[in-house]
Amino acid sequence: MSEIFSNKHSPGSIIVISSPSGGGKSSVCNGLIQQFSNIRYSISATTRQPRGNEVNNREYYFISTDEFRTRIAHGEFAEWAQVYDDYYGTYKHTLDEIINSGNHALLDIDVQGAQQIMQVYKNGIFIFIKPPSLSILEERLRKRKTESDERIAQRMETAKSELTLAEKYDYQVINNSLKDTINTIILYLKTRITLMEAV
Ligand code: 5GP
Repeated sequence: MSEIFSNKHSPGSIIVISSPSGGGKSSVCNGLIQQFSNIRYSISATTRQPRGNEVNNREYYFISTDEFRTRIAHGEFAEWAQVYDDYYGTYKHTLDEIINSGNHALLDIDVQGAQQIMQVYKNGIFIFIKPPSLSILEERLRKRKTESDERIAQRMETAKSELTLAEKYDYQVINNSLKDTINTIILYLKTRITLMEAV
């Protein structure tokens, strides 16, 4: 009998980017998404409140703590973690939809979540962005003016322990300049996957 199913796409890859808060992840992710049509941002769920111009279903799925817990109980997350005072997680169906359509899923997640993805998606691409130094990281957090002094201190403590996990990632890059960091990451990604330039 002839083959009646045609597999139009081979599945895409999972790209995980982690860095301490203020390390430049979001800007790097935006740069990659704008430049390549086959990289799609994986929108996470979170219990934290939207900040600034953030829009529900665009930056995050903003959900209540009760709903988050129910979804954990139903096994809906590929990974989830408590980061600072809130829950964050990646839905399995979000990843499946992206990679089954032949695109690469880009996850901006913390080190706890990345370690869970490492266990399940052995072929994932794991990139860690390091700040040039802890003092520069603190300066960047202060410039953002989104966190109180207390929260900045908390983020700096977390950053120190996150940096100790950087070596578990496939690739580490020091974020001296955003443009160079994005270009370095692109060169690395091209050694692992096919990227399609957005026109
Ligand atoms: P923010 O509140 O600044 O948007 O994110 C705080 C931290 O949560 C960042 O380190 C970000 O990478 C991480 N984060 C965002 N989404 C997820 C997620 O789905 N899972 C995990 N584990 N961390 C996430």
